[in-house]
This record gives sequence, structure tokens and C-alpha cells, in this order.
Amino acid sequence: MCYNIIEGRHHQGCDCFEAMGTTRYDCGMVNCVFSAAHPPVKACATHHLCNKYMTLPVKKAIRTSPYKCALCAARIRENERILVQA
Ligand SMILES: [Zn+2]
Ligand SMILES: [Zn+2]
Ligand SMILES: [Zn+2]
Repeated sequence: MCYNIIEGRHHQGCDCFEAMGTTRYDCGMVNCVFSAAHPPVKACATHHLCNKYMTLPVKKAIRTSPYKCALCAARIRENERILVQA
């Protein structure tokens, strides 16, 4: 079955995943409506039997960063600011 691949950056400092884009994994099955191999719906004689579901998206880190992501870094800065004031 086909699924979306979410490509992004993995931040090792906070273990967050920042999505950068998505691509589609094509299973190449003629009975899968998401595949490029599937014929046009009208030309598909057994379309009621075709797969109409995608499996869960998969995250794929195409980049890694040893630091924290911007969100986590900002949150930690904010916490430190509150601690200093208290
Ligand atoms: Zn498929
Ligand atoms: Zn983070
Ligand atoms: Zn079909």
C-alpha cells in the first residue's frame, strides 16, 4: 500500500521532528487507487475491490541537527527568564 513520507529534520537536542516536506511512496500495485500503476477509475473493472486506504505516514529524517529546535530553545529561554525573575 502507498503511504506518505514526511521528510524533515531531527533535532537531537530535544528529539523533535520538524517537517520540511512530503513525498509519496508508490507501491506500484494496479489495485491500489493511490498508485500511478492503477488505471483510470472508469477503466478499472474491479474497482470495488481496489485498495482505497493508505498506510500511516512515515517520518524520515533527511537532516539531523545536534541542537534543540527553535520552539524548544525558545521555551527553555522563557523558563529561564521566569526563574531569574522569581
Ligand atoms: Zn499503493
Ligand atoms: Zn524541540
Ligand atoms: Zn481500481
